[in-house]
Amino acid sequence: MIHKIQIKSPPDVVSKALFVDRDGVINKRMSDHDYVKSWSEFIFNPKSLSILKKGNNNGYRIIVITNQRGIGRGIISPKTFVAISRKMVKELRNKDIVIDAIYYCPHLIKDNCSCRKPKPGLIVQAAKDYNLDLKKSLMIGDSEEDILAAKKAGVGKFVKVRSDLKYFRNNVVNKLIIS
Ligand SMILES: [Mg+2]
Ligand SMILES: [Zn+2]
Repeated sequence: MIHKIQIKSPPDVVSKALFVDRDGVINKRMSDHDYVKSWSEFIFNPKSLSILKKGNNNGYRIIVITNQRGIGRGIISPKTFVAISRKMVKELRNKDIVIDAIYYCPHLIKDNCSCRKPKPGLIVQAAKDYNLDLKKSLMIGDSEEDILAAKKAGVGKFVKVRSDLKYFRNNVVNKLIIS
């Protein structure tokens, strides 16, 4: 079963998606083996915001694709994860950025699920739900797992950014968004 938080209704027409990883892209990544456990630990990456806005302006559905093993490990409850996600959506909405949905994997590695990146399960399900043209879609992630998942799902464009937020490669991303 794929876990998702649907914000916007799926469109009738085929559309393209800007798939974005969360930790290390939308917000500052916590240190290794730590997880965002409360809203106070959620720090937006300002460089990603302009990219999300650009995605909105260029007709992309914005879909967050995120591994959240902290849920499976019992470090953060599913309820808290959903609350943080809704707060993130609301804060982005205040900045005129519209998120369509959040697809997340709460599982552990040993669960061997079909959705934990680098597996493509989350993207494949989102494509079905949202009638997406994957070839025209773009994935932005800060880890190799993000890129592998995108490739396996058949996403046409992808870019790996640095999670330390210093070099976000906005130029590269901007070109891919309008290509
Ligand atoms: Mg990440
Ligand atoms: Zn999973």
